[in-house]
Amino acid sequence: MRDFIFAANWKLNKTPQEARAFFAEFLPQLAKRDLGKSSTGGDKRTIFFVPALLMETSEASIRSGVTTNVVARKGGRAMVEVGVQNVYFENSGAFTGENSPAVVKAIGAQWALIGHSERRTLFGETDEQCGKKMKASLDAGLSTMLCVGETLAERDGSKTMTVVERQVRSGLASLHATLAKNPERVVIAYEPVWAIGTGKVATPEQATEVHQAIRAILTKDFGPETANNIAILYGGSVKPDNAAAIGAKPDIDGFLVGGASLETKSFLGLMTT
Ligand code: 13P
Repeated sequence: MRDFIFAANWKLNKTPQEARAFFAEFLPQLAKRDLGKSSTGGDKRTIFFVPALLMETSEASIRSGVTTNVVARKGGRAMVEVGVQNVYFENSGAFTGENSPAVVKAIGAQWALIGHSERRTLFGETDEQCGKKMKASLDAGLSTMLCVGETLAERDGSKTMTVVERQVRSGLASLHATLAKNPERVVIAYEPVWAIGTGKVATPEQATEVHQAIRAILTKDFGPETANNIAILYGGSVKPDNAAAIGAKPDIDGFLVGGASLETKSFLGLMTT
């Protein structure tokens, strides 16, 4: 059983005031909606990946929504969660400018995002570093989302599956024990780089093909039971007008949304699946 996840990646956007204003508008509107169940019988959940400097502000806004019952709880778990967009693979030491996974957890995050293509291309993150970050993040008690995806040149060169397979395998290499016990703590986001912020969206068929290939890798490496409990999200120009068609595919367990997650209207507008 897998949940359907609407994940927001705010990237480097919003001030503390803007984050507070967003949640004050968004949470009561979300609470009025009945999003129903995922196609595998799981819940529908929302996760905000905010800039690390907005973590405490965002967490406090969501927590006050939970305590005033504006945010729905199912089975004791709040259905809106928050996390950061990057953590380092050490908790402390001489690593100027980095985010400690243990501290991120201590200030209230439930999640971390690892290996976004902007981290890989703009900040030089390697597959090996992403694997270490995944392990450190999970060891610190954070649920963790791994981003994978090919560039346009790689797709044009028929290298999509090779690239995605390499990224998935190196991201999850040290996670056998965690995945066997708690597969739902790991989520994979397939984000073709050519679809990020470009308005070009993968077709539901293109996304499905890669999602099925990822599930096949997970099945081979971790067994069918674990593989069936790992959600695989699609990201790249998801908007209210294309979300329903993509989300209707059984192999797509949610979205990782950039631009359209910054405004209540567009983020709620794509929660139709
Ligand atoms: P856009 O939705 O703006 O294309 O961004 C996708 C993304 O990078 C989410 O992580």
